[in-house]
Amino acid sequence: MTESKRPQGLQTQLVHAGEHDYNGAVTTPIFQSATYREEPGTTRYADVRYVRLNNTPNHDVLCQKLATICEGSSAMVMSSGMAAISNTFMALLRHGDHILAQDCLYGGTRGFLTREAERMGIEVSFIDGRWPESWSQHLRPNTRMIYVEAMTNPLVQVADLAQVVTFSYNHGLLSVIDNTFASPVNFKPLKLGFDVEIHSATKYLGGHSDVVAGAVIGQRRFIDDITRTLNHTGGCLDPHACFLLQRGMKTLGLRVKAQNAGAMAIAKTLLNHSAVAQVHYAGLPSHPDHAIASDLFKGFGGVLSFELHGGKPHAMALIEALTLPTLAPSLGGVETLITLPATSSHAGVPADERLKMGITDGLVRVAVGIEDPEDLCHDFRQALDSLLPKEEEQA
Ligand SMILES: *Cc1c(COP(=O)(O)O)cnc(C)c1O
Repeated sequence: MTESKRPQGLQTQLVHAGEHDYNGAVTTPIFQSATYREEPGTTRYADVRYVRLNNTPNHDVLCQKLATICEGSSAMVMSSGMAAISNTFMALLRHGDHILAQDCLYGGTRGFLTREAERMGIEVSFIDGRWPESWSQHLRPNTRMIYVEAMTNPLVQVADLAQVVTFSYNHGLLSVIDNTFASPVNFKPLKLGFDVEIHSATKYLGGHSDVVAGAVIGQRRFIDDITRTLNHTGGCLDPHACFLLQRGMKTLGLRVKAQNAGAMAIAKTLLNHSAVAQVHYAGLPSHPDHAIASDLFKGFGGVLSFELHGGKPHAMALIEALTLPTLAPSLGGVETLITLPATSSHAGVPADERLKMGITDGLVRVAVGIEDPEDLCHDFRQALDSLLPKEEEQA
């Protein structure tokens, strides 16, 4: 094997893939230019370089890095995760198509499918990702796509993703996955056989809660179609945001490993505390999807959720007593965030439906950052202890 063929590790790819030498600059500069000089004789629209056409130097470097780390042939970035999701649906589906989509999808995705896509003549059936035998009953002659997420929010359930790929082959469907919650560090869906992988790059890829962005990775023909749609819908990522995302990605491997470890440590701390009724983390053997997640993933991610015996009043008291986590939505950043899904991400879902999904009013979600696990666990222990009657307080 020649030196150039030797496969590089993920961290090496994250630092070096796609990088160019621009006047000797060690890191790719921001090309803050909306438009670019044409070569005399340019006649093709595709040769025009312009930020909305997603073909500036900052786009090229970032997309090459994404394609390399996800092991896809091509990639494109967008102005948000929802821009990536909506442009993928608009590019790969047409009026009269039908899709199978996992239930408990990210709220914005579900909203797009039920409110926007339906208006465009695209029909949706929701399926239980963990029950593959039930999928074929929803197939129609016009079914074109199956759409799933790597892990659901906030109960971190894991669909039978290998079966999703097999099912899509057997029935000639496109398979699309939102891999935001796993990140390319823990899971590479394209290697498993998915056609298209989507990210809200706002989360782990960016990793610093300072940029909103989306990404799509896959075979060139799919990414070309999605890019053409994006060029028309206009949701481009500006050069400065490209730069922030590219800079954030260089530490993705280090951050996600720390987040995997931090979440596991907190999950165990919670499990061992008498104020806690239930912990949802796929890394725990008690999670119903632990076996499937262990087969598919290198790590179980930075998001977990739990319930307290004292329900919502205790959940609110706990959040008040914690000193490190910030009460805020989103995930994947370096700082630990905490939310009550019933009053944030799932506030728009009717209460009875929410309960059926397993999301009680007192459910707490934690998106673990990269703080030292000892400090996070200590903070959770002192906050949980404060909920107990004085004589029961744990050592
Ligand atoms: C946040 C998120 C999105 C939407 O991403 P934005 O960058 O906020 O548009 C989509 N899917 C999942 C799983 C998410 O967590």
